[in-house]
Amino acid sequence: MLNLPTYEDVAAAAERIKGHAHRTPVMTSRTVDQEIGAKVFFKCENLQRMGAFKFRGAFNALSKFDERQRRAGVVTFSSGNHAQAIALSASLLGITSTIVMPNDAPASKVAATRGYGGSVVIYDRYKEDREEIGRKLAEDHGMTLIPPYDHPDVIAGQGTAAKELFEEVGALDALFVCLGGGGLLSGSALATRALAPQCKLYGVEPEAGNDGQRSFRSGAIVHIDTPTTIADGAQTQHLGAYTFAIIRRDVDDILTASDMQLIDCMRFFAARMKLVVEPTGCLGFAAAREMKSQLHDQRIGVIISGGNVDMKRFCSLTA
Ligand SMILES: *Cc1c(COP(=O)(O)O)cnc(C)c1O
Repeated sequence: MLNLPTYEDVAAAAERIKGHAHRTPVMTSRTVDQEIGAKVFFKCENLQRMGAFKFRGAFNALSKFDERQRRAGVVTFSSGNHAQAIALSASLLGITSTIVMPNDAPASKVAATRGYGGSVVIYDRYKEDREEIGRKLAEDHGMTLIPPYDHPDVIAGQGTAAKELFEEVGALDALFVCLGGGGLLSGSALATRALAPQCKLYGVEPEAGNDGQRSFRSGAIVHIDTPTTIADGAQTQHLGAYTFAIIRRDVDDILTASDMQLIDCMRFFAARMKLVVEPTGCLGFAAAREMKSQLHDQRIGVIISGGNVDMKRFCSLTA
């Protein structure tokens, strides 16, 4: 039996990250409210430190390290926002970090991770297994492995974003959350069931990689090949044991959005709300737009999960 994190763990995480993570703004738009026919509250994690909610989970997990763990350091595998979140959190806490990244990771991401103080170990994604390399580094050097989503302290940390949203705007009728491996959604589920038990909770993943939807509906974790989508933060191949258990228990449904819908949302956020949002960060809003006939006169929450997209890519996607 897994020892699942609870809302108490989310509340404890909120205390740990206080003064380190930003309490991000909640934004509204009359244009959106008119389009959806509802009152919509956006929790802007694109404005979080290092540009995504992942700072919350990483900082919470590393804050719990004991003296021996601090000395030996942290290791993780990620080419995306979790890498930067671990590197930044570790350097803020005086812990060394090692990040395992594929040799085809964008140079900007490798540079950003190094810039935050992480040591990058490069591997060949076609010949080597990143989880194995991470595990071996942990074993050989006594480092602690903090994976991107399937870890109780990561989940509890990610749940603090929804906690802040409910504290700020009160109960909601529905909340839309981006879904990759499920750290953000399962953490949000713990906060939602404690603070707004009647609120419908939806996870939203890329149409091309709907393993979460299939897992949710079939009752067993479905594994897929790396999906082809512009939502690079949600190119996960499967949910985790912890995240799936919580999602199955607490989430109402899993929805999907196409790349075209995500691009449309990126354009909207930039043009109308002056927000730079990465493709993955648009999943929640894309699904809310699609569902609008069922949301009439309701109070809706949408988590904008991140804003890390380099300007060239942003321009070519939205042109
Ligand atoms: C990691 C990430 C996600 C997906 O989060 P999970 O916890 O893996 O479900 C969504 N959006 C952004 C911007 C991310 O970095």
